[in-house]
Amino acid sequence: CGIVGYVGSQSALEIVMAGLKRLEYRGYDSAGVAVLADGGLAAAKKAGKFVNLEKELTERPLPTGATGIGHTRWATHGGPTDANAHPHLDNAGRVAVVHNGIIENFAALRAELEERGHELASETDTEVVAHLLAEEFSACADLAEAMRLVCRRLEGAFTLVAVHADEPDVVVGARRNSPLVVGVGEGEAFLASDVAAFIAHTRSAIELGQDQVVELRRDGVTVTGFDGRPADVRSYRVDWDAAA
Ligand code: GLU
Repeated sequence: CGIVGYVGSQSALEIVMAGLKRLEYRGYDSAGVAVLADGGLAAAKKAGKFVNLEKELTERPLPTGATGIGHTRWATHGGPTDANAHPHLDNAGRVAVVHNGIIENFAALRAELEERGHELASETDTEVVAHLLAEEFSACADLAEAMRLVCRRLEGAFTLVAVHADEPDVVVGARRNSPLVVGVGEGEAFLASDVAAFIAHTRSAIELGQDQVVELRRDGVTVTGFDGRPADVRSYRVDWDAAA
């Protein structure tokens, strides 16, 4: 439902949580975050109101890191439980992914992954993406390339945002039939399903086109098609006054 990603030098958790709050008006049934810190990945997710996630983070704080992603979920596949909330991780806990939309061919992908020994922990259509990204990343060591390879295998409508503990300064996003906007700041960059999530930080935006992947680093943004070809970037300035 709502997606936020951040890479920069501030606390990713604070920026992602504030961004998710700006998207609360859209409705949701669960919320979650993942942060890259100290060479690893830490995540927290809770069904129910946003305050449940805030409470969880108070009771079990995440380490502070400058790369992170977050999600508010509106369930389509699997009920609103903690396990079905996003982010979804691979079995090694190195990849985290959040997703808006529906992956139509998830059942076939899930069966294939289970045959290869992956253990899926949720009933969502989303979780297959975390496992597929982990497999592709282990071969190419490039999260944007892994995302392109995975997206080519997906059917349906999706906005995907992912991080990998082995690329701690990168956030990757992708979209097909579902919106994703990039915010470009000074030494930091943002990703969101809606500009409302980041206009407190930057008004310089890029709208991701159909079937495109974006790689975010604190010093710049690279956009390609799912086929890997460089894409034309459509930059614009957000000039309306917040609040949606
Ligand atoms: N289909 C996914 C799920 O049910 C994503 C739903 C959403 O857009 O929030 O978990």
